[in-house]
Amino acid sequence: MTNETSAPSDFVRNIVSDDVRAVKNGGQVVTRFPPEPNGYLHIGHAKSVCLNFGVASENGGRCHLRFDDTNPTKEEVEFVDSIQEDVRWLGWNWGEHLYFASDYFESLYEYAVQLIQKGKAYVCDLSPQEIREYRGTLTEPGKDSPYRDRSIEENLTLFEKMRAGNFDEGAHVLRAKIDMASPNVNLRDPVIYRILKASHHRTGDTWCIYPTYDFTHGQSDSIEGVTHSICTLEFEDHRPLYNWFLESLEIFHPQQIEFARLNLSYTVLSKRKLIELVENGHVTGWDDPRMPTLSGLRRRGYTPEAIRNFCDKIGVAKRDTVVELALLEHSIREDLNRRAPRVMGVLRPLRLVIDNYPEGQVEEVDSVNNPEDPSHGSRKIPFSKVVYIEQEDFREDPPKGFYRLSPGREVRLKDAYYVTCVDVIKNETTGEVEELHCTYDPESQGGQTADGRKVRGTSHWVSEAHAIDAEVRLYDTLFADAEPMGVSDHEFEEESNVRPVEHELADHLNPNSLELLTGCKVEPSLATAAPGSTYQFLRQGYFCVDSADSAPGMLVFNRTVPLRDSWARTEKFRG
Ligand code: ATP
Ligand code: MG
Repeated sequence: MTNETSAPSDFVRNIVSDDVRAVKNGGQVVTRFPPEPNGYLHIGHAKSVCLNFGVASENGGRCHLRFDDTNPTKEEVEFVDSIQEDVRWLGWNWGEHLYFASDYFESLYEYAVQLIQKGKAYVCDLSPQEIREYRGTLTEPGKDSPYRDRSIEENLTLFEKMRAGNFDEGAHVLRAKIDMASPNVNLRDPVIYRILKASHHRTGDTWCIYPTYDFTHGQSDSIEGVTHSICTLEFEDHRPLYNWFLESLEIFHPQQIEFARLNLSYTVLSKRKLIELVENGHVTGWDDPRMPTLSGLRRRGYTPEAIRNFCDKIGVAKRDTVVELALLEHSIREDLNRRAPRVMGVLRPLRLVIDNYPEGQVEEVDSVNNPEDPSHGSRKIPFSKVVYIEQEDFREDPPKGFYRLSPGREVRLKDAYYVTCVDVIKNETTGEVEELHCTYDPESQGGQTADGRKVRGTSHWVSEAHAIDAEVRLYDTLFADAEPMGVSDHEFEEESNVRPVEHELADHLNPNSLELLTGCKVEPSLATAAPGSTYQFLRQGYFCVDSADSAPGMLVFNRTVPLRDSWARTEKFRG
């Protein structure tokens, strides 16, 4: 495990610092984060964002934010905006270096024309289905297209007509002329332009032909002078193709370095699958607090610091692994333990009446805001004759090891008094415990008694007359299995390339991922809690005021994580 305070070190950073030392590219470092605006960013993207922006800032370089917006049918302005918001929220800054691949459409068109002129690209009339059939398989070579040997002049004319809108979608494509027998299928004359009569969110109807992702990505990096083009492992097999384009066009050649994408247990990290969850209503939206999206994690109560620490901890390597969700949860606990004020909130209230406490009396007890950090000070909490405690803090027949309240037993009400249970009122028909009666020891204020007697149990509480009502949402994992979709849940989406395998996502969902608690009671200091603010409810975990549904009269809390840290526990065993 990386030490939190040391700067991260990994094979990508080693390559970059070697290049800087060798004064390659004049010693300059330029990276980029290149999302496709076809969904919201998820925690896997955070790994890439932190790597690209981190490497640039550690080397006095710069990192661009570039949208690879080549597929007008799937891309939307909503996604362009949310991606910028999320990168900024993580704490990174691209300065003036915001770019769009669509701004390079004219240059990319020129590059395509150059390839045709060099006899390295041709217009093909095969249908998408035929192109797939001609491509061959991993074990068999492909077959040349009958249109492969068109003359340069004919290709130039046809490509110009494609641009002018003279043909229907699917009538023609432009393909690179490489090698139909290459063992690397990516080199079997890939499609580089297709006709798409779709409006683009930035270029409108200027274009009816669009470059493929493969033809766009590497050239865009080259145009921007990106020195280190850092991407995930599934692009390793595309590197020979990107090299072929750059060498054929004789333009600046960024160095591509591949690293393993983040896989996280109990969830999926693929925009296509996340879109499915949103569109089929399995979650309330991209920012549903159960989603692994940055907007979901933010709404759940995650902080940018916790996510950046998590990214440092997981490191960067070349081997595909699944990171335990417990490590992400450990990172937010570590952060909130330092910053979140402790408060009292009762999730499942049980009424407790103190028979010998004066009717109408209210005392203000003093409570420390954060024992981890005395600079957070303390606050006053009203105490009175009737309080709520947690239902689970009372047992009529206490099992061995249960130290909280039961008939005849004395416990401490946190920061207030010792109370002894003298009577239990039950519902006549259901037999459920409805109310407890206790007596208190007036000499036990603040938890100390005159005779020094000790009690083993302490309960949190909220005064009935001063309590604020709240709704609380408790979350469990979105998926029931640790690896819902297998280790590598990523497939290429480019329409003419490898076809996606369809999985039934819904079958893997955890039916108990959300538990809604109404009628919760929280201490009055929370009346003014701002949306997005986080607290530790004593013994119940870390909670965040929901930014969408919480309102002054009706507080809604999301539980970020319970307190029990399974990662820290296992870490102890690991030594
Ligand atoms: P998805 O499969 O979620 O759609 P993608 O790779 O298609 O992901 P892009 O918008 O193309 O999404 O991703 C932008 C950048 O983020 C790319 O450089 C990509 O490699 C990187 N990235 C995406 N997912 C992960 C991940 N799980 N771990 C690390 N980096 C990732
Ligand atoms: Mg992609």
